[in-house]
Amino acid sequence: MLGQQPVTRLLPKHLCIFYCKQYYALLSKKSRQEIGDIHNRPASSKTVMIEKKIHSLPIWFFENLMGHQSIRHFVATRIGGHSHPPYDALNLSFNVGDEPQNVLKNRKRLVEALGIPLTNLTTAKQVHDAHVKIISEPLRGKGATDYEDAINGTDAMVTHIPNICLMILVADCVPILFYDPSKRVIGAAHAGWQGTLQRVAQKTVKVFQEDFGCSPKDVVVGIGPSIGPCCYEVGQEVVSEVEHVFRIKAGLIRNESADSKRYFDLWTANLRQLVQAGIPENNIEVARICTCHHSDLFFSYRQEKGKTGRFGAGIVILGNQ
Ligand SMILES: [Zn+2]
Repeated sequence: MLGQQPVTRLLPKHLCIFYCKQYYALLSKKSRQEIGDIHNRPASSKTVMIEKKIHSLPIWFFENLMGHQSIRHFVATRIGGHSHPPYDALNLSFNVGDEPQNVLKNRKRLVEALGIPLTNLTTAKQVHDAHVKIISEPLRGKGATDYEDAINGTDAMVTHIPNICLMILVADCVPILFYDPSKRVIGAAHAGWQGTLQRVAQKTVKVFQEDFGCSPKDVVVGIGPSIGPCCYEVGQEVVSEVEHVFRIKAGLIRNESADSKRYFDLWTANLRQLVQAGIPENNIEVARICTCHHSDLFFSYRQEKGKTGRFGAGIVILGNQ
């Protein structure tokens, strides 16, 4: 089904032209050098996402994960659902105040387009922590139709079992999808500033290694749309934490001026910790799409002042049903 749909390549350089112009106009020369690859990415870096319309529903895919026939993955947008403002339209979260029957309709529309049974959708009660849960067969479908049934207190899930679709829900936080084609293991992680500083992405890779015998050099990763360094202003407590955890803030904290606003680059912070974990940079695709600047396409907690929906990113190993 997926292969029959027209493919549109959305180059972030084109998509983000508006925000890039604003963003770069504000930067000092030093800051531009620190984050320069946002505009002038090296040709070898994996930064292109692909949008397809399936049954008229726009769904985004990482190019580096799309090549693998053993899995299916997705990044949903906010377009094409049944929810009313401020959750319009494809809100996938039962936990933000939206009408549950609309969330259920939205989830059904998404999984039907992808050819994934709703009963295989597996979600967690995300708590901005760094616990990684291995999803065993009895946990298949937890949280598919009800928030209370979702897996307790975890921000990353890993499994090697086919037909368990791990889905992370976000609005500005970073959704990260993992796949080891050698050992056939998948993972999905939710990294806001807290999860990023607690290295949830790196801890997910550690579970791949220690529990499934994976080699990091085999793991392919997609870092999805999330609030960018153009918009993610943070306070001194976060700046101090970044310095403490990463030892260096160059490239991670952008200064507007010496005594003014500071912005945290979640994309680079997660990319760096994955590379530190041993994943080749060429295996990592970074969407570099700012949800705050593109709140017409994706839910943005900050842009919409906390009252909004959640979009989803998911991955499943295909197997006989
Ligand atoms: Zn932005």
